[in-house]
Amino acid sequence: IFNEIPETYPIPGKTTKYVEKDIDLDTVSLNGGFLVKVLALSSDPYLRGRMRDPSEPSYMPAFKLGEPIEAHGVAKVLRSENPKFKVGDHVVGVMPYEKYTILKDESEFMVVDNTEKLSWTTFIGAAGMPGQTAYYGWKEHADAKKGETCFVSAGAGAVGSLVVQFAKMDGLKVIASAGSDDKVAYLKEIGADVAFNYKTTSTEEVLKKEGPIQVYWDNVGGQTLQAAIDYADIGARFVECGMISGYNGEQNPPKNMMMIIGKSLRLSGFLVGHLHYKYKEEFYRTMPKLLASGKVKFREDITKGLENGGDALLAVQKGTNVGKAIILVADE
Ligand code: NDP
Repeated sequence: IFNEIPETYPIPGKTTKYVEKDIDLDTVSLNGGFLVKVLALSSDPYLRGRMRDPSEPSYMPAFKLGEPIEAHGVAKVLRSENPKFKVGDHVVGVMPYEKYTILKDESEFMVVDNTEKLSWTTFIGAAGMPGQTAYYGWKEHADAKKGETCFVSAGAGAVGSLVVQFAKMDGLKVIASAGSDDKVAYLKEIGADVAFNYKTTSTEEVLKKEGPIQVYWDNVGGQTLQAAIDYADIGARFVECGMISGYNGEQNPPKNMMMIIGKSLRLSGFLVGHLHYKYKEEFYRTMPKLLASGKVKFREDITKGLENGGDALLAVQKGTNVGKAIILVADE
């Protein structure tokens, strides 16, 4: 449950608490909904933004104190009073951080078609929301052309690692940054032409040497965005996906915003949910196959047990996750 609004980073056991409550799975009333066993839950950077005072405005509602955190999850239907969701189906959608839960709003959930026999966790990772973010954002906003140079920040993460591979598929030179040498090695494995640890190597120096860039995929904001503006080509496209450097404390916005005008840059902010109408069907038709065949690689960072969910929530903010951060709640 969401227990306390954090001042900076979310603290496991303080910001969030694990509590146990008995329910009788055979008799609990469904009221037209369906009872599921939760298999896996997602830990995402944006969840930090929901751990706030509800009076602060944002694009997503604040979590309510005393109620469960919620995020994308994959679950198996145990009982159902809704004909769209049958016993044994696997469903994905935003659900509470609970081991068993009753879901009601059918428009929020999708039965998974797992023809490619991917692991269920994939449907909250590379074949789920983060995968859609990379896929939709790249198609809609990068306007990528063969031979161009693209810079991806948080390149080894759930979204970033897919963007790196989409950019390579489109014939771009890819520069990618990440926060550890292990992540840098992974970036090379998935095809980045230039990969560096931004904690030990200056982003400015790398972009000066390897740029100018025509596409910047921004997961980070702050001073990294400032460096990208400095080394952007005239007319470069900036895909504004996230600004995680400001999620847990002070934001450090770029001081060179005038150069957006001076360089005729195009900055496109987007939310994955706003593009479902256009790409969702195409995504499920193509992405699971690309993942199953190994043409697109992905990594998952699994935290076992819902009681350790707080650790997984912190990991994505601190950068200790390598790949998509997932809480494994139960096996099949
Ligand atoms: P990741 O798997 O990439 O995990 C987050 C990573 O961010 C960490 O591993 C860390 O990697 C990096 N990071 C954390 N703090 C900082 C910092 N201060 N400076 C630089 N990097 C930092 O998460 P996702 O792939 O799920 O999300 C990536 C971005 O995409 C986030 O900004 C998120 O908010 C955004 N997003 C946007 C969506 C949209 O609809 N627009 C949807 C989903 C995600 P490292 O070790 O490299 O520092």
